Amino acid sequence: MSLADDLYRETILDHYHNPRNRGEITDPSAKVEGVNPLCGDELTLYLQLDGDTIKDVKITAKGCSINTASGSMMSEAVLGQSIEDVKKTVAAFKTMMMSKSGEITLPEEMEDLEALQGVRKYPVRIKCALLPWNTLLEGIQSAQEDQKDQKVKEVK
Ligand code: ZN
Repeated sequence: MSLADDLYRETILDHYHNPRNRGEITDPSAKVEGVNPLCGDELTLYLQLDGDTIKDVKITAKGCSINTASGSMMSEAVLGQSIEDVKKTVAAFKTMMMSKSGEITLPEEMEDLEALQGVRKYPVRIKCALLPWNTLLEGIQSAQEDQKDQKVKEVK
């Protein structure tokens, strides 16, 4: 298989050309920036939590095809999930991307993400694929810290 076949499978191209959940959220629970200097990928992730649920996630990005597609797939996969489930989803995705051996099968709702498995053959690009996911974890952490701060303020 050629590099193009492998890297730019139809699903990836679709997400690259029509990224899901593009844009900004006014007054988000968290806004975090992610940068991958190796490739030049830059993204801003907006997160809206409703209690422990991801109510909305939006991304603005200037990145390569892998980065853009991965962010788009991530936003679809985690929307409406509880934070606990999101952490499992992120862990499953990372396990897949870091795995050296064979095909990994993800849960049905994450099927699209399997398209990114081809990226594993190009270690430099793995960071492109992981950036949106790591940025999401940062966003969740930042939102949760804010919630804690607010609780402390209320107690006072
Ligand atoms: Zn990249």
